[in-house]
Amino acid sequence: MSKVQQNVDPVEVDKFNSMASRWWDSEGDFKTLHQINPLRLKLIDKIFPLDGKKVVDVGCGGGILSESMAVKGAKVTGIDLGEELLDIADLHSLDSGVKLNYKCISVEQLAKKKPASFECVTCMEMLEHVPDPVSIIMSCAELVEVDGYVFFSTLNRNPKSYLLSIVGAEYILGMLPKGTHDYASFIKPSELAAWSRQAGLELVQSAGIEYNPLSRSFSLSEDISVNYICVFKKTAA
Ligand code: SAH
Repeated sequence: MSKVQQNVDPVEVDKFNSMASRWWDSEGDFKTLHQINPLRLKLIDKIFPLDGKKVVDVGCGGGILSESMAVKGAKVTGIDLGEELLDIADLHSLDSGVKLNYKCISVEQLAKKKPASFECVTCMEMLEHVPDPVSIIMSCAELVEVDGYVFFSTLNRNPKSYLLSIVGAEYILGMLPKGTHDYASFIKPSELAAWSRQAGLELVQSAGIEYNPLSRSFSLSEDISVNYICVFKKTAA
């Protein structure tokens, strides 16, 4: 199947692919992902202790979250459609001696091949980059076993999040490359919860990822008005 027929925006994936070599520069274009990673890792590991668990990281990019979950002892498969990104992810894991698997496959295809074969699915900062997020959510729900967990993070859609995550982060503070995000693709927590419910996923918890411009650092908070994580449990097959 060509990329055009798949649920993928090739312009989006090419944009990330072209920045692949800079993925692991913790002061570079993906500084924000490096900064928020310890927070999301801690949240995942607290709700679903990762050691020994089978996890798939959907839209893994260069592998920042995938590798950190493998370090915690999870058996991780990272999937993405950006081949250059997966090459960088592979190289980095070889370099750091962390064992995990990366595959260039869509989540829809993996769900058909291996339904209910993971105890946990993570899909972070990816839903806002695809043409049909509902299809991604359905496939993530198919990949996870009953009683397993699915973690989604994305950007909320409201004037505050437009101002902070596009105007502020891309244009004023330069925290993200210009053009990283498209406001129309942002997703409200109520939409994410409703789509997930239709997929058999029950909302367990949500948390905001808040930026403090004074300390230039992120923290988890109850404020889900901008960047947020929702945690779901698969209730039925
Ligand atoms: N989840 C990673 C990377 C987020 S960047 C993290 O949070 O650290 C968004 C990623 O989504 C990029 O790697 C991009 O290639 C990927 N992506 C975009 N559309 C995709 C699709 N349809 N299928 C799989 N990955 C996709």
